Amino acid sequence: MPKTDPRTRFEKILKDDLCVGCGLCQSLLGTEKIRIDKAVDGDLRPVVCSELDEADVDLVYDTCPGTRCEGIPKADISSAPYHNLVWGPYHSLTLAWASEPEVRFEGSTGGVLTALARFLLNSGRVAFILHVKASEDEPSFGAATISTTVDEVLAAAGSRYGPTAPLINLTAALDRDQPFAVVAKPCDLNAIRNLAHRDARVNRLIKYMLTPVCGGFMPDQAMGRFLSDNGIDRDQVSALRYRGRGCPGPTTIEMADGTRRDFHYLDFWGEDESCWSLPFRCKICPDGIGEGADIAAADTWPVATPDRETSATDPGTNSIIARTNRGVELLEAAIAAGYLDDGGPVDIEFMNNTQPHQITKKRNMRARFNGLRRAGRLVPETFGLRLDALYLENSAQQNREQEEGTFVRATR
Ligand SMILES: Cc1cc2nc3c(=O)[nH]c(=O)nc-3n(C[C@H](O)[C@H](O)[C@H](O)COP(=O)(O)OP(=O)(O)OC[C@H]3O[C@@H](n4cnc5c(N)ncnc54)[C@H](O)[C@@H]3O)c2cc1C
Ligand code: SF4
Ligand code: SF4
Repeated sequence: MPKTDPRTRFEKILKDDLCVGCGLCQSLLGTEKIRIDKAVDGDLRPVVCSELDEADVDLVYDTCPGTRCEGIPKADISSAPYHNLVWGPYHSLTLAWASEPEVRFEGSTGGVLTALARFLLNSGRVAFILHVKASEDEPSFGAATISTTVDEVLAAAGSRYGPTAPLINLTAALDRDQPFAVVAKPCDLNAIRNLAHRDARVNRLIKYMLTPVCGGFMPDQAMGRFLSDNGIDRDQVSALRYRGRGCPGPTTIEMADGTRRDFHYLDFWGEDESCWSLPFRCKICPDGIGEGADIAAADTWPVATPDRETSATDPGTNSIIARTNRGVELLEAAIAAGYLDDGGPVDIEFMNNTQPHQITKKRNMRARFNGLRRAGRLVPETFGLRLDALYLENSAQQNREQEEGTFVRATR
């Protein structure tokens, strides 16, 4: 059988729709070889700029979150006192919010990730935070950023639901040779956990990994449709804030002429999961719940749906999954230092009720992967994410339907 050439093997990741545009391949191989750019559909994708060799593509396959997903290291899994088949290993499930009213207000939910990042900087535990802020060039996009001050961290608060490449500067961050923390989506952290097997600096320098629980981001074409459906000229949009300033707060679009339009979260995303327009990779995401994170922070609305009446005045409360000893210690220290208010423990039932879409996805992922494999598509390899055990808990009919549906869509 002829051997696939390296470039074709790399581009198979894109062809099979497994790329989330995280930017890691550019960061690892350099811009002479790979450059992240806007693709025809508007999303961020790598472009091959010069010849790739086998070693380059092996490195990408070993680290890309489209081809490989791993959670916290085995030692951290073993030391976690609690294990749930859906939610994974954890030390504690709690409610919390940022103690500083401004941080809670600006944050996406209760400002917990921002408060933790500010505590990490002020306490001298890390020298900088690698995370994401609003893009200056593309108002609906996120842009990777390195924050060294608490003001910079606050300025980057809030969820960015548009295309974002959080890992585009990861090599540059490691090259600084200083302790740092990363706040990024679960798939970004899967990629960093993958990289830890190739680069010893990951475990030495990245002291904390924090994540929002994630149901997926909005493809650029969906944003384009939303703007045109609402009579907004995209070229005139000067700034876009997805949420925050309340929980979830409004989606705010500012125009070059100084006018502004506010939309309710429910009108932006649709009333339920069926309305969400997601990239394919997000529909087959084996880890939206942050299994690579020391701490994952989530929303707490019943059935994952905010109340239309109170979402501007709700100050926001996060649920927090602390998965590692480092995560628990950080949480306790941030509470003791006055950065977080402790809202008390919650249980798995609470997580299930507030994140039903995460359960559906996790339970169905092995069957969906089987359908993709049958269709000749690449499938992300997973490590320690319990997909097989969950598959066995499902009814045979459920697995059959999920596999068949995915197979049909993949071959269409
Ligand atoms: C794409 C996406 C999908 C989500 N889906 C869900 C969901 O299904 N269920 C749920 O409970 N919660 C979801 N959230 C999380 C929720 O919106 C809040 O981010 C989370 O509750 C943390 O709130 P916070 O107030 O602590 O965050 P903040 O204090 O506002 O901090 C957010 C941090 O996340 C970083 N960040 C923001 N956007 C991105 C991005 N695109 N990529 C990488 N880093 C980013 C920021 O730099 C900031 O440091 C999602 C978030 C994102 C970005
Ligand atoms: S490393 Fe990231 S940007 Fe590169 S192919 Fe994989 S998902 Fe896409
Ligand atoms: S749903 Fe999964 S793949 Fe999509 S952005 Fe979230 S963590 Fe990444």
